[in-house]
Amino acid sequence: MMIGVGQRSAPRTWRNWSRTATAHAQQFWRPRDVADVVRAVRFAARTGTRLRVVGGGHSFTPLVATDGVLLSLDHLADVQRVEPTPDGGARVTVGAGMRLRTLNAELARRGLAMENLGDIDHQSVAGAVSTGTHGTGARFGGLATQVLGVRVVTADGEVREADADHDRELWEAARLGLGAVGVLVAVTLRAVPAFDLRAREHVVGLADVLDGLEGPDGWIERTDHLDVYWFPFTRRALVKANERVPASGRSTLAPARRWVEDELVANGLFAVTNRLSAAAPRAVPAVNSVAARLLADREYRAPSTEVFVSPRRVRFREMEYAVPREALAHVVTEVDTWLRRSGEPVPFPVEIRVTAPDDVWLSTAHGRATAYVAVHQYHRMEHARYFAAVEAIAREVDGRPHWGKMHGLGAERLAALYPRFEDFRAVRARADPDGLFTNAETERVLGPVR
Ligand SMILES: Cc1cc2nc3c(=O)[nH]c(=O)nc-3n(C[C@H](O)[C@H](O)[C@H](O)COP(=O)(O)OP(=O)(O)OC[C@H]3O[C@@H](n4cnc5c(N)ncnc54)[C@H](O)[C@@H]3O)c2cc1C
Repeated sequence: MMIGVGQRSAPRTWRNWSRTATAHAQQFWRPRDVADVVRAVRFAARTGTRLRVVGGGHSFTPLVATDGVLLSLDHLADVQRVEPTPDGGARVTVGAGMRLRTLNAELARRGLAMENLGDIDHQSVAGAVSTGTHGTGARFGGLATQVLGVRVVTADGEVREADADHDRELWEAARLGLGAVGVLVAVTLRAVPAFDLRAREHVVGLADVLDGLEGPDGWIERTDHLDVYWFPFTRRALVKANERVPASGRSTLAPARRWVEDELVANGLFAVTNRLSAAAPRAVPAVNSVAARLLADREYRAPSTEVFVSPRRVRFREMEYAVPREALAHVVTEVDTWLRRSGEPVPFPVEIRVTAPDDVWLSTAHGRATAYVAVHQYHRMEHARYFAAVEAIAREVDGRPHWGKMHGLGAERLAALYPRFEDFRAVRARADPDGLFTNAETERVLGPVR
């Protein structure tokens, strides 16, 4: 059935990037404009079919999966408005399907940048904000904190504009809403003047990192954007301490060197060590020790996006827990102890990041200074035991799982972790009373609509 220009209606099997979720959608549509989205939502409501939206498909959980209508907003990816702000930044409105890579390029052309970013740029703007995608930096929030306004199609087919001054509750819920309150068709973001990052990467002993995190001179406070990678079974960590400096528009890292370090070593060689680990799991501690010895200090300066974002070509599974910052060293120590006791073969590094507390209802950093502990496993190796063990450790400190990454919590436990959970559910029930935007994953983590 054709319901609008540019839309294809065909059953479609969809898989996410990490191959942890599959869906057989009855209909797969790529709306050309907002009117097409409205038609799709009304069609789904009329026929009693459920509807989900896919962005870049980079969530690890089956949030996108549906056997009903699956919408891709790849065609809603234009820059709609740029309003300069007194600080030299701008309020920038873009189609919600725009990929972060395109957003970053569009901002750079205008002398602008996102204040903070995660470590890849394949996500769509809507997908990234909807799951609480974050970067790192104790003074900076996740992407949803940079959302100033949203245009949403709710289940009744209405197009609503919401921000801090109009329809505030819808804005609160939709800026990090797991696609459960409506289809985001446009997002207004706060952009800042373009800046460079001076990247300083140091190889440091794990114990020294953990001892040196806190305090006025600690890694967390003295670094604008702190990112730590630690290879299990080793005592060595790579501390990436990125400092914000004025824009120069160019990188001091020669392209050839960048290729060797970021492609050949961080991806090519890393792919080999992971394949080796899958074939001979008992060799993992030795393999990791070689990998950790390849870590090296380096320093360079480049436009912020080039430093924040790295290629990630080795496929993996991931779980990430947001924990109170003061619990960070304890959690990492417990993970280390469990790994050494169990000998679980894990060739992927553990990643540590931090963000500022924020007020977004479902943000993993809601109301508390937050540290993130992310655990990864190569996609051809068993992840369940490792992730369950880390989840149990995080539970002890009231850890909140990343909404787009693997975890085992259900709505009841999550409700206890988020003070505004019931407010979110109330807005969702008003925006989508019949559960048009639900699937098994939203039922698991948010509960039924009523
Ligand atoms: C290699 C890799 C690296 C990553 N790095 C980071 C990182 O550094 N920091 C971090 O926090 N996370 C990271 N993630 C997780 C990722 O950012 C999130 O899972 C994000 O949601 C993916 O965006 P997406 O566009 O692919 O969304 P999808 O996975 O396609 O969708 C995510 C959710 O958004 C909803 N959605 C999508 N579009 C819309 C719309 N228009 N309206 C309403 N709802 C919508 C979907 O229905 C779904 O619920 C990473 C993931 C991978 C695979």
